[in-house]
Amino acid sequence: MNAPRTREDWLAMAAGLSIRSQAFIDGRYVDAAGGKTFDCVSPIDGRVLAKVAEGGSEDIDRAVAAARRSFEAGAWANAKPTHRKKVLLKFAQLIETHGDELALLESLDMGKPVTDARQVDVAATIRCVSWTGEALDKVYGEIAATGPDELGLVTREPLGVVGAIVPWNFPMLMAAWKFAPALATGNSIVLKPSEKSPLSAIRLAELAMAAGIPAGVFNVVPGFGKEAGEPLALHMDVDGLVFTGSTAVGKRLLQCAGLSNMKRAYMECGGKSPNLVFADAPDLDKAAEAAAGGIFYNQGEVCTAASRLLVERAIKDEFVARVVEAGRKMQPRHPLDPGAPMGAMVDETQTNRVLGYIEKGVAEGAHLVLGGGRAEVVSGGCYIEPTVFDGVAHDHTISREEIFGPVLSVIAFDNEEQALRMANDTEYGLAAGVWTRDIARAHRVARKLRAGSVWVNYWDGGDMTAPFGGYKQSGNGRDKSLHAFDKYTEIKATWINLED
Ligand code: NAD
Repeated sequence: MNAPRTREDWLAMAAGLSIRSQAFIDGRYVDAAGGKTFDCVSPIDGRVLAKVAEGGSEDIDRAVAAARRSFEAGAWANAKPTHRKKVLLKFAQLIETHGDELALLESLDMGKPVTDARQVDVAATIRCVSWTGEALDKVYGEIAATGPDELGLVTREPLGVVGAIVPWNFPMLMAAWKFAPALATGNSIVLKPSEKSPLSAIRLAELAMAAGIPAGVFNVVPGFGKEAGEPLALHMDVDGLVFTGSTAVGKRLLQCAGLSNMKRAYMECGGKSPNLVFADAPDLDKAAEAAAGGIFYNQGEVCTAASRLLVERAIKDEFVARVVEAGRKMQPRHPLDPGAPMGAMVDETQTNRVLGYIEKGVAEGAHLVLGGGRAEVVSGGCYIEPTVFDGVAHDHTISREEIFGPVLSVIAFDNEEQALRMANDTEYGLAAGVWTRDIARAHRVARKLRAGSVWVNYWDGGDMTAPFGGYKQSGNGRDKSLHAFDKYTEIKATWINLED
């Protein structure tokens, strides 16, 4: 079939799709041990896409045992770096070959526009896997600075078995940020995708094996947080736990690591990112479009969503008008419509949660200047209008809590110091933006923002070449770049006596 271009093409492809819905353990698809399944519901129209294996502790035990066996057998862990590189590059190639199918699964499963799924999620997953594969044989050990009668070697070794628990907003990409460096460094993994978006991970396991990753090295156990996630986090034979998701669950997982075997634990969590626009921003139209895109892209279900727009009072009204204009053009459409600016929210629960925040914004006295309601796009689906609140006070709930939906809070400021104080007065520290023509101010403000990523005069820059992660309760550790390898390796010092 030619590349799908229209909604009808995607629908035709969806009609012919055979959806994998079992767990993937030790190189094959299996039912959950108890035979349980859960409905995987598409938020596009409320249709049940598949009955997915509902993993529990027995399945986690099976997957961890398979991962341990494969790690000890060493076919992957002890393979030459050049071999692991070849396999990861092949894996990236297979993801590209199946890119349309994976994009469609992602869109059907969690509601994002299929064009974004293809051009962003799939493309970034390929880039993640291939960049990491390319990098892995360029990482060297160190030799310690010693005298002539001893030799100190500093080497990296894989942790062993890594448990990865990931969210639903970029299901495949968030998984790739974990499995690519984990595999590159020789670990075996057990991946638990979100119960709201399990399909792409289940399919990827098969592609990993087709690429040459040995059985047992890449396992996927779908299921719920308490029933499948916690047994993985508490498992005594899991050496590393990597997570992306909410701060509340991240904190629980740090406890699990402490309550069990002190496994290495790295959490990538929530955000409430401030976007600071000064009156001397170089191009207000561009800044307004970026402010709207920064909150409405992916229906606002982005950890780095530009959810707090801090604007210098002198330009506030004029700027908000431009943001509203840009936002108005981003109405949700059918996710399979090419170029839809927004699609469906992930599910009914998240839709109601976001609508609850909108009600709270109104009740606490913020001014609704765009949207605010449910959008009727497809009957039975979950859609919310792009929503902008002006006149938000710094202590309003909508300015403090992560909404994870298309809701923007606009807050005015009078000077740089006040802007920085409000920007940093949050439990989160994932990302921030600053718009100014003044280079000294740009550097000064960027330095003072307590956030893992800061963007100057644009929003959401970044690539595999730079680390990504949070300050404060946005998490610890870093995904992407060579820094990601730190999470998946132990560092060993070996001392050799050279004396006669
Ligand atoms: P979530 O914390 O509810 O769930 C994330 C994962 O954890 C899911 O797989 C879920 O099943 C599992 N889980 C839930 N409870 C668990 C428990 N008790 N034990 C073990 N596992 C458990 O988050 P979500 O709703 O899927 O995703 C949204 C959150 O993710 C937002 O807060 C967002 O900011 C964050 N996020 C962060 C980043 C980042 O890189 N920092 C990226 C994307 C999303």
